[in-house]
Amino acid sequence: MDAFRHIPSVEHLLTHARTGELIASFGREWTANAIREVLAEYRQELRAGMPLTTDDEILITRTAARLNSQAALFPVHVINATGVVLHTNLGRAPLSAQAMLAVASASGGYSNLEYELSSGKRGSRNTQAENLLIRLTGAEAALVVNNNSGAVLLALTALARRKKVAVARSQLVEIGGGFRVPDVLRESGARLLEIGTTNRVHLRDYQLALEQGAQVLLLTHHSNFKIIGFTTEPTLQELAGLAASAGVPVIFDQGSGALLDTARWGLPHEITVQEALQAGADLVCFSGDKLLGGPQAGIIAGKKALVDKLRRHALYRALRPDKLCLAALTATLLHYLKGEAETLLPVYQMLSRPEAALRDQALSWQQQLGFGSLISGRSTIGGGSLPEETLPTWLLALEVRGPQKLLARLRASKPAIIARVENNQVVFDPRTVLPDEDQYLLAGIRTALRQIKEQ
Ligand SMILES: *Cc1c(COP(=O)(O)O)cnc(C)c1O
Repeated sequence: MDAFRHIPSVEHLLTHARTGELIASFGREWTANAIREVLAEYRQELRAGMPLTTDDEILITRTAARLNSQAALFPVHVINATGVVLHTNLGRAPLSAQAMLAVASASGGYSNLEYELSSGKRGSRNTQAENLLIRLTGAEAALVVNNNSGAVLLALTALARRKKVAVARSQLVEIGGGFRVPDVLRESGARLLEIGTTNRVHLRDYQLALEQGAQVLLLTHHSNFKIIGFTTEPTLQELAGLAASAGVPVIFDQGSGALLDTARWGLPHEITVQEALQAGADLVCFSGDKLLGGPQAGIIAGKKALVDKLRRHALYRALRPDKLCLAALTATLLHYLKGEAETLLPVYQMLSRPEAALRDQALSWQQQLGFGSLISGRSTIGGGSLPEETLPTWLLALEVRGPQKLLARLRASKPAIIARVENNQVVFDPRTVLPDEDQYLLAGIRTALRQIKEQ
């Protein structure tokens, strides 16, 4: 076929002036590979009967696009206009300015990660975070790992291997992203003793489990679902009392890492880490990047003898946090100790924004765009925290012919804009749009609207 004979060689395309610019940025080998891939794809399209004109410029443009996408940094900044505060797919909690600075300052050069400056001897990476966590939660000891799934896995592996662990049927849950309580239990080598029923679990079910040889009680917070209707579960306090008299530890997977009373933001009260410890949980496990408002991390706080066992376990070495995580986490914990968490942590800034301010912001977007309407809506907490709970907000709603097309165009802006569709309109929630993002958001919306009109 004629078209095939006109396909240029890799060598020919490499000599082009525009290819020279690509070689300067990506190197000759990477560029040549990309050209080969583009040519292979092009031949395939010809074979499939696509009517293509063979043109050096088009092939080089495709090569440039391919190289730019292969060389993209990851992850990159996006604008979250969904109103989901702890959006798991969008990186959960944004860090405070101080936490970001701490990461930058600890990572650009060497750090005292495992070096004690006073003695010049080897130090522990965990000490400072542990001291702050003890002060904050009242726990005897604390340990930081990579994420909360790791924290639960470590706790069960170190304390419950080959032992019977009692779990209520109402708590044999899937948290998301493949974290299922029964699977984690199996991986840890513990033996699951299911107790009670899906909707009702009584203290006497736990009593029976202890009589049947349960050596650990595992409780999981209902972090991403609700059981309503004819339901009951014993309180943590009742269970801790029962377990203590049997000399068996209670591990509580609290999940969200709430240290402040969420009722202050008009939400239901989420049991805090301090309350769980006070109620008698021996170990409390929680995430760093949910309601705590810090980096991805798993935190275990509780009895010293148990935390020490976890610290000494080989699995801890595999799950330990890196210096970037610890830098961000200590800066975040300091906000709580200084009483400035509510004002300086983005998660709480977003939760506490008054409805009137949200309305003003949506209104100003509408005025600047000269398009769209203002409607009342709900922002979601998300991130497996406070299931089904929402806060009132105001949305900018755009009525366009193809809402999904507009969403796709918005995702292609730089930075990408993530919005959602509600009642066939594309809606933008100001709650999760950070103060310095407004202008990028408006510019992105304008361009995307123009693009779908031109189609
Ligand atoms: C979120 C959550 C987890 C998983 O935590 P990651 O930090 O995402 O690993 C485990 N248990 C509960 C109850 C949770 O809410």
